[in-house]
This record gives sequence, structure tokens and C-alpha cells, in this order.
Amino acid sequence: MTPTAQTAVVKEVAKDRSMLLQKEMMGNHYDRLADVPNSRAKVVSTFVPGNLNELILCFDLLNNLPEQNAIQAGMRKKSGGYIMEAEKNGHSEDVCTYVKSDLGMIMRGNEGPSGKLLPDPDMLLLSYTGCFTFMKWFELLRERYKCPTAMLHIPYEGDGKITDNMREYVVKQINNEVIPMLERVSGVKFDIDRLRQYMRLSAKAEDDLVWVLQTGKNKPAPIDAYFGAIYYIGPIFGAYRGTEAACDFYKALRVEIGERLAAGKGPITPDGDMGEEKYRLVVEGPPNYTHFRDFWKMFHGEGAVIVASTYSKVGGVYDDGFRHEPDNPIESLAEYCLTCYTNRNLPQRIEMIENYINDYQADGLLINSIKSCNSFSAGQLLIMREVERRTGKPAAFIETDLVDPRYFSPANVKNRLESYFQMIDQKRASAGAAGQKNAGVAA
Ligand code: SF4
Repeated sequence: MTPTAQTAVVKEVAKDRSMLLQKEMMGNHYDRLADVPNSRAKVVSTFVPGNLNELILCFDLLNNLPEQNAIQAGMRKKSGGYIMEAEKNGHSEDVCTYVKSDLGMIMRGNEGPSGKLLPDPDMLLLSYTGCFTFMKWFELLRERYKCPTAMLHIPYEGDGKITDNMREYVVKQINNEVIPMLERVSGVKFDIDRLRQYMRLSAKAEDDLVWVLQTGKNKPAPIDAYFGAIYYIGPIFGAYRGTEAACDFYKALRVEIGERLAAGKGPITPDGDMGEEKYRLVVEGPPNYTHFRDFWKMFHGEGAVIVASTYSKVGGVYDDGFRHEPDNPIESLAEYCLTCYTNRNLPQRIEMIENYINDYQADGLLINSIKSCNSFSAGQLLIMREVERRTGKPAAFIETDLVDPRYFSPANVKNRLESYFQMIDQKRASAGAAGQKNAGVAA
């Protein structure tokens, strides 16, 4: 029988409970944004790295994240059209495609991922954490919306450390600029005890997230810390950090991953449980979203699991011990912004990746270089060579884009990955041969 639209069976995408819950939470947030004309809630647009969600919650404001809107547009195959729209209106090919997807979406009427209209922001809150594009992006939005704009300047960790001066500089800006503007826009008086309570909830969820991400150290790893982690980080990097809902989500996620671990299972993939774990990788750089499932398949189809990634730290590097701290809430928010991955210098990034390779017993490093993301791409070749030199593990470099479908070439990426897996096999074979030879000499 020739398959027809009626007879063809559409294969279900396998998802764990947490992935369904995450989807529901994101959907609920988009519904809240769409309901603004009725609820009259005020909206603040802000970015993921360095976001001050606990503070935003103190003023009953809704957070709208343009990066997340672009990711959702990429996954729903809408970003390509938005990017063309932005380019038609004069935005260059080299500009970060998150920006063009966002601007194109606005130019075409600002229909959000849920298919409902997104509200105009009442305020733009920019925590500038190392990516110059953030600043230019919000300049464009400010021109359009003409709303109050707070620019929280975070000094770059050029020397790889945070001084008291740097911390005080950020604290002063939060106290003297950001909080007064949030009060003016929302009409709500700042209450530090309310902030402390949100910080307490943040720390609780952060503990569980770290536990989950660190299960990647096990063999087999019960999680995929790059593709799977996109689902895990969604609530805490988005609108939910500091809420009871986030605590419930991460508690449930921890139980779920604990069950996988106890059963000796690998990660869930869109095609079901992953088979034998053959390669353990650390990945640097954001993923491609327009071909997310195809891209993931190129890994899990070969038995490759990502045991740790830098991208899963982009909304907070918690595995080196940082937690939002209710006793010193403003200082802690400053510390959070200062320690963002995008605010770290190259030696710090190299050290972080080197530690991941060693601690997670990875076979090597893969860099997914994003054509239009200067913040991640700068220095990636240097990072690759230095990590290879320090660990002796093979590294490879592929190039894709975040949400521009024109820059995802499946054949090229697949070829590169297959060669890389062969390289790992060869390295193992020669290490095994050298081990036997040495054993022979010793005998
Ligand atoms: S970090 Fe990269 S992807 Fe994010 S806004 Fe900056 S350039 Fe764009």
C-alpha cells in the first residue's frame, strides 16, 4: 500500500515527564504575556545572562526574553522568514541571528511562539555581561518602544577575578538606578524581604539543577548535557528562577534523573532511550535550533553523549559553587552578573573546559562555532588548541548557526562528526596498543 497522508504514521517524539512539564511551564508564561491587555501587568524585556529575575518578581513585573523568543521561533521554523524580513529592512548578514529573528518577528506584527501577540515592553533592563550585541539590540528596541531603559554595566572579568570595586560598582547601579526605575515603572515599592525570599527559592532550584548536570560524570551518563539540557535549563534561565514552580520542577527533574541513574540508563533522546554510550564529549558553543532534532540525531545515532557543556551554564555558572544568597541579596545579584559565562575571559573558559574533560572523563572537546555569535566565537580556535594541549584529548570544530536555517549544512556537519568519532577511535586504539606494549615491557 502506498502511504498517504492518512496512512503514514507520524513517529512520536519521546519525552520524559520533565520535558513535558517544561513545555507546559513555557506555554503558561507565554499565555501570561499574551494576556497582558486583560491583566494589565507590566512587562520588562531582559536577557538571559545576568538576568535579575528575583528583582523583577519583587515588582510584579512579567519578564519577556527576546533570546528565548528567537529560540522558540527557530524551533518552530519561523526564524528564517523573520531573519529575511530584518535583512530586507537593512540589517546586515553578519548581525547575530537572535537579533534579526526578534526584529523580524516584531516587524511582522510580534506574534509570539504561542501564536498570540506579545505585548510591548514597559521597560528594557539590560545587564551588560560581555556581549556587545546585547547593547546594540536594546538600543534598537529602545528606539522602537521609547520606554525607560536601564543599562546595568557589568565590568568584564579581564583579569579573571572579581575585585571589591567591581562588586561595589554593580551594587551601586542596582541600588541607585535599577531599583528606582523598576519602582517608577511598576508603581510597587521595593521590599528587600521579598527579594530574600525569591533568592532562597533560587538557591534551592540551583542545588537541584547542579545535581542533575553533574550526573553527567557517571558512566553511562543519564543525561545529555547539551541537547537534553536545553529542556532542563529552560525554566531557571527564563521566567521562573526565584519561584516555587521552579523548585517543584527541579525537584521532579532530580527524581527523574535519579531513576535513570539507578537503572543504569543513558539519556532520553527524541527517538527514545539512548543505546550504548560510545563517545563522551564536552561541547562549547550554543546549539543550532532550526534543525535541533536532526543535529541531536547525528550524536545519539552514533552513540555520542554530551557529558558537559558551557552552554548549559550561560544563564548561571552554578557548578563552581555560586548560589543566590538571601542574606546579601544585592551583592549576590552583582556576583551572579559578574560570574556569567559571557563575562569570563578566555583563560577562565579554557580552565573550565579542561576541568570538564577531566572530571567528566570525556573523550574530547567539540566546538560548535556560531557564525553570528561574536561573544562565543571569539577565541574558540585558541580555546580548542589549548584544551587539546593540556588534556591530550582530540578536539574538533564545526560551524552552524543559532536560528538561521541557511547556515546549517547537514552533510558537512555529519561528515565532520564522523571523522571526529573515527579520530577518537584511533586515539583509543593507539592508547590501548601503547598500554599493551608497556605491559609487555614490564612483564
Ligand atoms: S551572546 Fe551571541 S547569541 Fe547571545 S546576543 Fe550575544 S552575539 Fe547573540
